[in-house]
This record gives sequence, structure tokens and C-alpha cells, in this order.
Amino acid sequence: MRFHPLSGEFALPANEAAFLVHKLPQTRALLGFTLVFCTVFYLAFAASDLAALGYGAAFLRLCAARAVVAATAGTCAWLAYRRPLSVAATRRAASAAEAVALACFMFIAVHRPGEFHWHAMSLAIMLIVIYLYIPNSFMGAFALAAVATATFLALALKYGRLTAADVVTMIMLLVLANAFGALAARRFNQVSREEFEARTQLQHAAARDHLTGCFNRRYLHENLMRPEQMPDGQLTVVLCDIDHFKRINDTYGHACGDAVLRSFAAALGRMTREEVDRVVRYGGEEFLVVLPGTDLEGGVRLAERLRTHVAATSIPAPDGLGNVATTASFGVACLHVAPDMRHALRDLIAVADKLMYDAKRAGRDCVRALQLG
Ligand code: GH3
Ligand code: MG
Ligand code: MG
Repeated sequence: MRFHPLSGEFALPANEAAFLVHKLPQTRALLGFTLVFCTVFYLAFAASDLAALGYGAAFLRLCAARAVVAATAGTCAWLAYRRPLSVAATRRAASAAEAVALACFMFIAVHRPGEFHWHAMSLAIMLIVIYLYIPNSFMGAFALAAVATATFLALALKYGRLTAADVVTMIMLLVLANAFGALAARRFNQVSREEFEARTQLQHAAARDHLTGCFNRRYLHENLMRPEQMPDGQLTVVLCDIDHFKRINDTYGHACGDAVLRSFAAALGRMTREEVDRVVRYGGEEFLVVLPGTDLEGGVRLAERLRTHVAATSIPAPDGLGNVATTASFGVACLHVAPDMRHALRDLIAVADKLMYDAKRAGRDCVRALQLG
């Protein structure tokens, strides 16, 4: 189950957290806009206070309540637009603005008890805004809307001058607003999360080699080789090429060759640092490992560990008879990258490629290394 059946949010907390962080800039902009938009109308509705009560102390009290809402919502809008709010802080700002606006709304409703029918309509619109526009978890929005609805109905029964028909209609209207708001929010939650999922999968597929799961050449050129991505300090690359790989294909078949490639790539993945090193399928049976912040000695150590591991590992032959053993050759190049070296990685790869061919000429199953600069 990918989505929570009730809320339409990701069932897995880690996925939900990643989605919310990804969406945060949009969420903050939406919160800022919604608060400004609603506050303008909240203030403009003071005209209805004036029409209902005339100018006087009662009208000014309600103006003060509206001013409190404007000040709270304005502050939260400013925070949303101007401050690097986290997901949790954005939700806190949203909830604070909602709570103050709803409390003041109830205050105004009680001071204009003859118009509870109209207040119910206003509340229905506010509920839709709460469900759809103010960022909160589904359950947070639902809880706030339910408490507001119950409080309003209690006030309407106590202070409103309502007929039985008014009360029934009011309850129906508010139940409708809550039901529609909740259903629409659930649908919106799920659709936006499906979009996020599809986008993530596309990004992953565009950057990866399908057979081995390593990064592909596109990722190397479009991300790693970009001059602004070049890390300062020591940078080492290891270029690995499986020895006599064509023979494996010719002897055991292409599927067996694929299995050897996957096993080799898996070993590279295990022996490198997650989220720091990058393993790229550079060609058919050639792999490039980019090691930021690693000196030549570290690169050679990794290459030697890989070399001994590959030489000591074999995979079962497809006919079930015996094992397929292989070795690999390695070129390791290191450079201390200065800020003006825009093509450091490209140059390093060219050198590592030459060194790897030196290793082939030296009889394969060995490592050749060079410090540049
Ligand atoms: P050397 O030791 O000099 O590197 O010899 P080699 O046989 O490993 O090198 P060569 O370049 O002659 O052969 C590489 C082979 O890799 C040829 C190609 O058919 C095979 N190959 C490339 N991509 C794949 C793949 O995705 N799967 C399989 N099974 N084979 C592949
Ligand atoms: Mg080869
Ligand atoms: Mg090759």
C-alpha cells in the first residue's frame, strides 16, 4: 500500500517526508498567497459589520478582532515568503493563522447573532480553504475543521435566532463542506504524490544504467563533469575494465556475461561510500569510480581491494558445471583540484584510461596509478 487510504498521503513516513521537503518552496509560496488573499477579504468584510451594527463601540470591537487576524496572518505570510521555514515550522505558522482567524470569526458571529445563516456560509468557504489551501497534514486539517464546525454549531444554537429549518440546513451545509473538503484534499494529496513518484522514477531511470543500476554516461556528463560540481581538494578516479570479457560471452553466453557485469557492479557499490563516491558504467565492461576527497593512496587501496575481490570471486556457470572466474585491470589517477580547474574530471579520466591500458599491456589483473599536477 503506497498511500494511506484515508488521507491520500504516503504510507511510508520516509517517502512522505521526502515529498514534503521537495514541495516546501511551493507550499510556502501557496501559504503566503492564501494568507494575504484571505486577509484582504477578512478585512473587507468589516463593511458587513458596519452595515449590521452601524458605527459605534460594537463595530470597533469587531474591527479590532479583524485587525488581530490581519496581524497574525500578515506575520505568518511574511514568514512563509521571507524565512527559510522547515516543513514543521510552515505547518505551525499555518495552524496559528487558522486558529486565530477561526476564533475571531466565532467572536464576530456571536456579536452579530441575527445573521448566523450567513456566518455558516462563510464558515463553509473557510473550511474548503483549510482543507485545500493551508498546508497541514490531512488529519491536522480534518481535526481543525471538525472542532471549528462543532464550536460554530454550539454557538449558533446558543446565540443564533434560528428556526428548526435554519438549524437543519446549517448542519447539512457544514457537513457537506467538510465532506467535500476532505474528499477533495484526499484526492489532491494522492495526485500530487503520484506526480512526485513518477518524477522521481524518471529522474532515477534517466541517470542509471538499466543492467547494473550504476550511474550512466548521461549522469557523468550532465552532473559530475559540470565545472560548478567540481569539488575542491583531492579528487581520484578509478577506471576498471574486466579482462577478456568477450571470452565469457563467447563461452557461456550473453546472459552469463550480464550476470558477471551485475556482480562486478554490486562489488563496486559495496566497496564505495554511499552518497559520496559515484560508480558509473563507463562502457560495456568498463566502470568508472569517482572518489571526491580521496588521495592517490586511497584510490589505489580501493582498486587493490577490488582487484583481489574480483580475482577471488566466481559465479556459477549457466550449465551448472563449474564456475566463471574473471579478473580486472585498473587505472587510478589523482589530482589536487584548484578552483580554476574546470575540466579536472575529464582530464583525470583520460589519464586513468591510459593507465588502465598500461595495466592491460602489463599482463592484466593489476593496478597502475599516477598522481597528476
Ligand atoms: P580486454 O581484456 O582487453 O578488456 O578484453 P575484453 O574481451 O574484455 O574487451 P573487448 O572490448 O574486446 O570486449 C568487450 C565485450 O563486452 C564486447 C561486448 O560484446 C561485451 N559487452 C558490452 N556490453 C555488454 C553487456 O551489456 N552485456 C554483455 N553480456 N556483454 C557486453
Ligand atoms: Mg575488457
Ligand atoms: Mg573494455
